[in-house]
Amino acid sequence: MSGNHLFDLIRARMPAEPDKAMFCELTDGRTYRYQDVLDVSGRFANALVSLGVKPGDRVAVQVPKSIEAVMLYLGAVRAGAVFLPLNTAYTEHEVSYFLGDAEPALFVADPARGDAMGKVAADCNVPAFETMGVWRKPQGGESDADTGGTLAAKGLAASPDFSDVARAKDDLAAILYTSGTTGRSKGAMLTHECLASNAEVLVDFWRFTADDVLIHALPIFHTHGLFVATNTILLAGGSMIFLPGLDVDKIIEVMPRATSMMGVPTFYTRLLQRRELNRELARNMRLFISGSAPLSAETHKEWSERTGHAILERYGMTETNMNTSNPYDGERRAGTVGMALPGVKLRIVDPETGDYLADGEVGVIEVKGPNVFKGYWRNPEKTAEEFRADGFFITGDLAFIDADGYVHIVGRAKDLVISGGFNVYPAEVEAEIDALPGVAESAVIGLPHADFGEGVTAVVAPRAGAELSEAGIRDALEKALAKYKVPKRVFIVEQLPRNAMGKIQKNALRETYKDTYSGSAA
Ligand code: AMP
Repeated sequence: MSGNHLFDLIRARMPAEPDKAMFCELTDGRTYRYQDVLDVSGRFANALVSLGVKPGDRVAVQVPKSIEAVMLYLGAVRAGAVFLPLNTAYTEHEVSYFLGDAEPALFVADPARGDAMGKVAADCNVPAFETMGVWRKPQGGESDADTGGTLAAKGLAASPDFSDVARAKDDLAAILYTSGTTGRSKGAMLTHECLASNAEVLVDFWRFTADDVLIHALPIFHTHGLFVATNTILLAGGSMIFLPGLDVDKIIEVMPRATSMMGVPTFYTRLLQRRELNRELARNMRLFISGSAPLSAETHKEWSERTGHAILERYGMTETNMNTSNPYDGERRAGTVGMALPGVKLRIVDPETGDYLADGEVGVIEVKGPNVFKGYWRNPEKTAEEFRADGFFITGDLAFIDADGYVHIVGRAKDLVISGGFNVYPAEVEAEIDALPGVAESAVIGLPHADFGEGVTAVVAPRAGAELSEAGIRDALEKALAKYKVPKRVFIVEQLPRNAMGKIQKNALRETYKDTYSGSAA
């Protein structure tokens, strides 16, 4: 009999002691053991089947972060369904696009938006609609549905015994929609093998064991918090301190009892602003990992000075899971994303011709391996455009490989600025700006310019209390960079716009400043 590829692996790696905590330090009075993971995911699998979810059906989920939401993910995998998490910030209009595109058998929404989302589900002809919130103990007269939503109530009432639906490695386990900064979001189809193989590699590469206690403060609608963090801890048999979101006070409070943290760069820059962050606070920690957006070399350096730990930066995407990582034992080189992970093939090519480039030359990263997705949901044209004939996926990230084999990402291909015919890589200019005194962070973008095609433009946020000026920054950059790379304008702002994963929203900046050079002479 064939098994369930991903969940069989999770079962096989379960700690021998069923009482081992998977989630620890819960403030709601519960303990959440590995045995509970099996039971509650089994209950959710039964609840899904009773709601009419069949193998291969999509289960769309837009719910607040909770342990039950993780159990729903596992329940969906066990039921042979395709888990489809949605960003909690999406509006009704956006959700209706995803429901129309994915045609799920079930949509699970936040009870706080139950009425509005129920209507969206009905308008999109989704056969079943449920709600799920953050579970808390019911009080006098309340039911589970009052606290945790209708699906939590059904899940808790269902049997924990479930016979996992057979799924082969090529079957879909999840669809994650890309953040859609260029055009409409596309659904990346992730197979059981994509998720299982990447998690196995990460456990080994980052040395996760049953002794690990991971600080989990990421959202769980994105690959980072859902798959990288959760699947890795599950396969290691470790524990998580599961926080509702980025709460710096709370991270500081729990750090002495944790061993590891996965975060986006914002976690690190925010923590660095706190006096409590020092070697003593991080004494029990063995590993800090960063990804999803570039970590500046300054942040890397400051973190090492303050805590004695070199942050391990890695690089991945919704479509590919994790592709590269800095080494665990060797040098973790600031400003780089390390080397290809075991089993991942990575090459740098000329975006126009597809020719391989020599080390040191900037081109597009292409990757191939069991971690790479199967294609975009119901979008064979887009899938064909983004894969080479030999199976490599064109990531759209520009990078070069240095003499020691470390990959340096210099920006997204679409963010490349071409000014007066010269290529300007935003990351290079941003690194120079970030190194200036008083700078917290920066973003370099290209804006329409009649003379140059695009004008290099910087948007810079100062550190608290620092005074920055456009002239001061431009003067400093003129000493460090070729003239064509020096921003023609520098805007000083309090904060850069970021999305939930800490990525700077360059699209929003391009829109805000689009008329900057509209008066320039042709
Ligand atoms: P997402 O699909 O939302 O996870 O976004 C993936 C994109 O985030 C990649 O294609 C990169 O552009 C960017 N990214 C992820 N990790 C890093 C990193 N460590 N450094 C620079 N960019 C990164």
